[in-house]
Amino acid sequence: MVGYDVIIIGAGPGGIFSAYELVKLKKGLKIAVFESGTQLEKRKCPIDGKRVQACVKCKTCAIMNGFGGAGAFSDGKYNITNQFGGTLYAYIGKQEALDLMQYVDSINLSHGGEGTALYSTASTAIKKLCLQNGLHLLDASVRHLGTDINYIVLENLYNELKDQVDFYFETHVDSVRLSGRDGAGGYEVVTGNQTYQCSKCIISAGRSGSKWMEGVCRQLDIPTKSNRVDIGVRIELPAAVFSHLTDELYESKIIYRTKEFEDLVRTFCMNPKGVVVSENTNGIVTVNGHSYEDPARHTENTNFALLVSKHFSEPFKDSNGYGESIARLSNMLGGGVIVQRFGDLIRGRRSNLARIEENFVTPTLSATPGDLSLVIPKRILDGIIEMIYALDKIAPGTANDDTLLYGVEVKFYNMEVEIDHHLETRHKGLFVIGDCSGVTHSLSHASASGIHVARVIADEA
Ligand SMILES: Cc1cc2nc3c(=O)[nH]c(=O)nc-3n(C[C@H](O)[C@H](O)[C@H](O)COP(=O)(O)OP(=O)(O)OC[C@H]3O[C@@H](n4cnc5c(N)ncnc54)[C@H](O)[C@@H]3O)c2cc1C
Repeated sequence: MVGYDVIIIGAGPGGIFSAYELVKLKKGLKIAVFESGTQLEKRKCPIDGKRVQACVKCKTCAIMNGFGGAGAFSDGKYNITNQFGGTLYAYIGKQEALDLMQYVDSINLSHGGEGTALYSTASTAIKKLCLQNGLHLLDASVRHLGTDINYIVLENLYNELKDQVDFYFETHVDSVRLSGRDGAGGYEVVTGNQTYQCSKCIISAGRSGSKWMEGVCRQLDIPTKSNRVDIGVRIELPAAVFSHLTDELYESKIIYRTKEFEDLVRTFCMNPKGVVVSENTNGIVTVNGHSYEDPARHTENTNFALLVSKHFSEPFKDSNGYGESIARLSNMLGGGVIVQRFGDLIRGRRSNLARIEENFVTPTLSATPGDLSLVIPKRILDGIIEMIYALDKIAPGTANDDTLLYGVEVKFYNMEVEIDHHLETRHKGLFVIGDCSGVTHSLSHASASGIHVARVIADEA
């Protein structure tokens, strides 16, 4: 059996930054990273918009899995804030969480991100404009690496780590077992017919590993709590409509309380001059977006999500299952992502190819024209429509007939795994970090959680 001091499961931001900090703090530690997906340069989504138009459901999704994790082709927006992106601060303290996010930012800058823009809500007049219109702008600093620079940072991090860490790509971990009583003898990590031994194990399996993580928790008797799911659409409109917000803030997280149901609807993942993309989580196709730092790759459109959180109480526990069912419905009707003009939605008719082709906003994703009201629950869709009209007051043009809505966008949250302030489970030496812990939902929080655990392990080693 091959033995390691530390095994990390998942090469997303959580896994990468824990490996980075361990290597830096404790030279000589034997570290391995197991990753279901491929290395960075092999990550290629077959959708080319010509020969392959829709998701072909690869064994592992090149967008979600592989070195860089779900963040590899993301917009590379590192939000330095405790107001959204996760609740890491609740485990490690607010200042510590912010310090770690700043530290992650400094690593990104020293690995290819220097010169990228840092935006801040600190003294913006947009906050007042929002308040005057029933909208609330959350506070944050945002480092926008862009998809292209984000890729370069990941390449540089990999080149630095590859000689000091054993990377096992295309190697799915089937199970994690306690070795000895309650992990006293460390852990066994099982992949196919190979078993690896380690003293400490860091699980950073991300959102795509959520089902697998549930199984690990069941097997190792680690308590979990069911969580929430966010359901909504991705909006695409001319970049000029939002330029006064995006030029100053890049990304604005705005919350609106609906008049009808007092539900909270929020903007999420804003991509100025970006593109809308589809994403495949465990065979379910949903929508997302990103944008490039390089002006040559800018589009004429800005996209962002409008999401509503659904929290469930007893006896229903499967919040992700609920989100999946809604996404499946859109996949059933549209074969993948559905696109609809706002003008069609409010007139109660489906969009068709002719209307999309004549639309003043040209879609950046080839999606199936359809009717989102057949997919999204009324209460959620009503809230989204209400918020579009509210946003129209601070960014006139948002509620134009030509604004495009893509659906569905679903943010699956992992159940919350019971972990302590070290992000350690009830089994000593078994840590759960990043999005699979249910604690983080963002690049910056996931990366910071990796640094935190690496420091805990280095202190004990
Ligand atoms: C298109 C897109 C755009 C995004 N844009 C942004 C953004 O701009 N800003 C932001 O803050 N967040 C963004 N996010 C979210 C962000 O990418 C995640 O929050 C972040 O990547 C979480 O990091 P992680 O390390 O916890 O998990 P992940 O990045 O999901 O990495 C987990 C890795 O573990 C691997 N894995 C899972 N199970 C196993 C197993 N059993 N064995 C071996 N390997 C396994 C997976 O293949 C994956 O590579 C975006 C996400 C997507 C999909």
